[in-house]
Amino acid sequence: MSEKYYFECIDCNVGYPGGNIIYLCPVCSKDNQPGAPPRGVLKTIYDYPGISAKTHSDNLFQVLEQDDFMSLLPLTDRKYWPNMRIGGTPLYKMGGRTADNFDVYLKDDSQNPTFSFKDRASALVSAWARENGIQTLVAASTGNAGSSLAGICASQGQQAMIVVPAAAPLAKLTQILMYGATLIPVKGTYDDAFDLSVQISEKYGYYNRNTAFNPLTIEGKKTVSFEIYSQLRQHVPDRIFIPVGDGVIYSGVCKGFEDLLKLGIIDRMPVLVAVQAEGSSNLIKNLESKSFISTPSNTIADSISVDVPRCFYMTARYMNEYAGEAVSVSDKEILAASLLLSRSAGIFSEPAAVAAYAGMLKYRDLGLFPAGSKNVVLLTGSGLKDLSAVQSSIRIPAAVEPDIAAVENFVNTRF
Ligand SMILES: *Cc1c(COP(=O)(O)O)cnc(C)c1O
Repeated sequence: MSEKYYFECIDCNVGYPGGNIIYLCPVCSKDNQPGAPPRGVLKTIYDYPGISAKTHSDNLFQVLEQDDFMSLLPLTDRKYWPNMRIGGTPLYKMGGRTADNFDVYLKDDSQNPTFSFKDRASALVSAWARENGIQTLVAASTGNAGSSLAGICASQGQQAMIVVPAAAPLAKLTQILMYGATLIPVKGTYDDAFDLSVQISEKYGYYNRNTAFNPLTIEGKKTVSFEIYSQLRQHVPDRIFIPVGDGVIYSGVCKGFEDLLKLGIIDRMPVLVAVQAEGSSNLIKNLESKSFISTPSNTIADSISVDVPRCFYMTARYMNEYAGEAVSVSDKEILAASLLLSRSAGIFSEPAAVAAYAGMLKYRDLGLFPAGSKNVVLLTGSGLKDLSAVQSSIRIPAAVEPDIAAVENFVNTRF
């Protein structure tokens, strides 16, 4: 039991006490079917009036920040947090736009310990496990969640078991093994890996980190919102572009700002733009539909290649409640944006992250940014995680003889 927080089912609104292992709402998840998004995802609720009442400072946000937002995390003590720099990633204002009258900021979350946004969720799940004396964790992953959990667990002295579809990119598989986790490649899809990991956690009692299934994944991801608000000197940005696969990052970012709204720290929500790859837009395509129809995914952006978004209902509800927007981008647009981002900002992101940047470019080119607006792009993972995705965009030159004449010849034929 925890006095500090409880879980609420987004479908039936029934509350469950914090401090216990619980994944989906047992009532609402009973009839979940493979091929359909799960019902019964849980939202973490805090004692907002109690938190507000604790301080007399006129800057509640600053007070919460000084304590690393422990009041808004489901932990009793910071000592369980990994001894690594989780989050705290840079927010860069894009330069060279003297003609533009709006601002674009890049939040570079590839600067996390395992080079993706997923560390925010893994850190919280791992800390919670430590606090509760759990030694082994399991996750299904297309790559980043697994490599993240493996790395964070290594730093915490915990065991990790990672179940992945066999086709995951080499760099992510390499990370998982280098961090010493048990890697279980599955002949099947992410959905097969997901179901298998749930069976593993049920059979062996391992704590499951699966995205959206474990409600703490959403709580961990929300921390980026507090950082963005802080880095913008306590201003709410106008739009945030978020790459969406399962929708947990989207829901997490929304939850972070919603916490601030409930505390009266902010008085309006940013517009959150869900960006999906055209070849994997099952979340966007089903927003208006009565019953969920999944189209098989096909995109170079493997981290957002999702047939059945695990956080569909929470994301859809948030989009509805806070006027969220959506845009999809083609693989061609992602590849072009990847070069542009690398060459204009010096940030090499993996295709899923670049999708968010491509979505921002689409808005910009349509003239959708009001004067004076602040627009943030979440760059969620490093380009080094998937080198093969961009090989068609570049050509590594043949070697030249090590003399200046050969170099001269090379340069002349090139330019
Ligand atoms: C997981 C991931 C996403 C998408 O997050 P969801 O919560 O599945 O929507 C985007 N970018 C990267 C790099 C990721 O690893």
